[in-house]
This record gives sequence, structure tokens and C-alpha cells, in this order.
Amino acid sequence: MKTIGLIGGMSWESTQTYYRLINQRVRDELGGLHSARLVLYSVDFAEIEALQHQGDWDATAEILSSAGRSVEAAGAEFIVLCTNTMHKVAPQIEQAVSIPLLHIADATANVLKSDRITSIGLLGTKFTMEQTFYLGRLQDQGIRVIVPDEPQRERVHSVIYNELCQGVVKQASKNVYLDIIASLAERGAQGVVLGCTEIGLLVQNSDTDVRLYDTTNPDFS
Ligand code: GLU
Repeated sequence: MKTIGLIGGMSWESTQTYYRLINQRVRDELGGLHSARLVLYSVDFAEIEALQHQGDWDATAEILSSAGRSVEAAGAEFIVLCTNTMHKVAPQIEQAVSIPLLHIADATANVLKSDRITSIGLLGTKFTMEQTFYLGRLQDQGIRVIVPDEPQRERVHSVIYNELCQGVVKQASKNVYLDIIASLAERGAQGVVLGCTEIGLLVQNSDTDVRLYDTTNPDFS
């Protein structure tokens, strides 16, 4: 079994899901008392969030590169960055360490391709929905990406930071998300990527006929 290096805390609400799912998978595969060998470096998200909204991505890259070096020094053999948004600085983290970083957009694209999806909706932070670091990686795999319109993106972004990352799950926000998911399907999306690690706390596949791909859940179920 390899030792996993998790860079988490962005937010911790979704990092705890990573911890649970990874351990459940190891138990299911190996049985008995087996659990995952992993090292978690959990950052203070308030610091990261402030830098994101100031546009100081270089400073976030320094914090996460240092976290990457720490998990490597602690024995991690590869890195999982427990947030879609911060993959914006994945290249800098990769440069700072000598172990591989499993890119969340590549893992997502692999599942979409195996499901023969050619057109997908994307929900996430405004950074993820509006910049190329994430959706460009899906497009590079020949997948058309449909994002919500501007007011919808604003709403999705606000629910992530003001509610989900603070552990607040509201029925009204769930209804808003389900409407946006339906509108993406009407625009031709064959499914919708939940490209933010907290969205699975709000909506799941059982809530809609539209196929959801939850980037926090390795089974995408
Ligand atoms: N966890 C979220 C994501 O997957 C948002 C928090 C962050 O900005 O890292 O993008």
C-alpha cells in the first residue's frame, strides 16, 4: 500500500469526506482492520480564501508548495490536492516536490471518457468555471464544457464560500443548484461535473435525473 499525501483544509468540510472515503475503500479492498496510510497537511482556509480573492495566486502557490514538501518529507508517495480550485497552482506544487500529483481534472476526464461523455456541464467556484486551468484540461480531452451564465455562476460561487465551506446546507440553495443543473442539461450537457469538493454535500445523484460527477467521490456516485 502506498502512502497518500493529502493537501486539505480547503475546506475541511470536504477534506473529512476524502478521509472517510479513502479509508472505506481500503477497508473494502483489504478487509478487517485495514485502513489507509496517509499524511494530511490541512491549511487554514481563511488565509487561502483571502489570497484567492485578492488574486495573489503566487502566495497560495507558496503555501501549498510548502505543504507538498511537508507531506513528501513525511513519507507520502504521491499527492492529492483536495480542492478543484487550487489546481490553478498545481504546476507550481509539482515543481516543488519530486513525487507525482494526481490532477483532479485528469481523473474527472478519464471517467467522462469512459462514460463516452462529449458534452458536460461544470459547477464550481468562479475561478474554476471562468478560467482555463480546469475546464481547458477537459477540453484538451475533446470534451465540450458548458458553464452556467453569469448570474448563475455568481450564485453557485456564493453558496460555496458562504454556506458549504462553513458547513451550512440549505434546501433553498439546493433548489437553486438543481435548477441550474437542469438548465445545463437543457443546453446540451449529458451530465454535470460537481467541480468543487463541497457540492456533493448539497446535491447528489438521487436528487436529479441528470448524471452528476462528484469530484470528491472516487466512484462518482
Ligand atoms: N473546495 C472547493 C473546490 O473544490 C472550493 C474551495 C477552494 O477554493 O479551494 O474548488
